[in-house]
Amino acid sequence: MKKRIDQIGMVVRTYWEAWSAIGRLKNYDRLVTVQSHKLQKMISYAVRHVKYYREMFESAGLKAEDIRDARDLEKVPILTKTELRNRFWDFFPQELPACRVSRTSGSTGIPVCIFSDQNSRICNSAGVFRYRMALGMGLAGRPIITPMKTPKDPWDKSPHWTHLQGLHKTFYVNPYVDTQENERYIGKMFEKLQGAALIGITPAIRKLCYRIRDGQYPRYRPSIILTTGEVLTAEVREMLEETFEAKVADIYGCNEGGDIAWQCTRGAGYHINMDNVILEILRDGQPVKEGQVGEVVITNLNRYAMPIIRYKNGDYARAGGGDCPCGCKLPLLAEIIGRSGEDITLPDGRIIPWNQLKGVLNDPRIRQFQVVQNVDAGLNVKYVHEPGVDKSTLEKLICQRLREILGSAVSIELVPVMVIAPAESGKSKLVISHYRQGLEYA
Ligand SMILES: [Zn+2]
Repeated sequence: MKKRIDQIGMVVRTYWEAWSAIGRLKNYDRLVTVQSHKLQKMISYAVRHVKYYREMFESAGLKAEDIRDARDLEKVPILTKTELRNRFWDFFPQELPACRVSRTSGSTGIPVCIFSDQNSRICNSAGVFRYRMALGMGLAGRPIITPMKTPKDPWDKSPHWTHLQGLHKTFYVNPYVDTQENERYIGKMFEKLQGAALIGITPAIRKLCYRIRDGQYPRYRPSIILTTGEVLTAEVREMLEETFEAKVADIYGCNEGGDIAWQCTRGAGYHINMDNVILEILRDGQPVKEGQVGEVVITNLNRYAMPIIRYKNGDYARAGGGDCPCGCKLPLLAEIIGRSGEDITLPDGRIIPWNQLKGVLNDPRIRQFQVVQNVDAGLNVKYVHEPGVDKSTLEKLICQRLREILGSAVSIELVPVMVIAPAESGKSKLVISHYRQGLEYA
């Protein structure tokens, strides 16, 4: 009985939060007031109850009252992933509220567990509710179709109603399962769910898209596509919009920060959920100017079970600015660049950023790729090509472009493959390096 009452309480609070969150969408002053109020409350809680922040504030000569709004945050030292991992148990308050645990994907190394309490889940759901409303999904009744993340997931999972992010029924399909039974099932789902919202992680939606392009699945036209979980390149966006004849809105989030920012269908950037998270883009500790790229630093304003303040999550992003034509006053982030942990180190000490490799391999003839650096520093580039492509011409060109960046010190081998299996999280790892890993852990 108590559990039931708790659940009802949670639903009511989520709708109330969502209602207020939607209400302040076009009022910048109100957004700033809510942000500052939440920040003060979070800082004073963390300094009082959480060992890590108590000690950190003390050694920096800071008091909780010194942090009044987002601009004051620059006084607080940055928290790195290594520090979070090393001092993991110092991040919890003495009295831990009921929590759920999630793991960060660990694409940049060893995974970190993140504890989230009811308050942070409610505020995050309200944020999801808000962007779904802004993207035209309405309050209720719009079906959602979601592709499963890996071949191990069921292909005929039963649909279920979501009730915390708008009242919608979610149906599942699995584009990784290669049976005729599944093909028929997906065909039926597409027929039944015309005009649904297609929501899922980018690699799974991309897989679905390729199956349609190959004629394995029939054409399908959702009302909107919401992607998340992986950097969405301009090429992939274009292909999705062309194949599904629908607009794509990308959602940027991470476990530590929740849903951080979302694209509307009017502007080019991402609206930052500034009343749930403070996002800074820094280079050498200083905020970057409009249009410049820097490291993403986040402060979660709702998670009391495990306060995350000024945390460098390993992503790079381009700062945005100006107003969005949609009228929403949440500030804009121009572009998500991606992870910093996927760079490649060469024997001469040079570091090759992954977006440089990505730039070479983002060829319309290549569907998917994965760069594996062997222990001897040589590269194996696995790739899945478009049907009917002349492999030798393509490989020669890619090899030549890679040589221009890497020089001649490392071997490069191109390996055409049929599939590149997603990792357990459903995301595909673009770069895997075994070089120097042994030294690091010795
Ligand atoms: Zn907008």
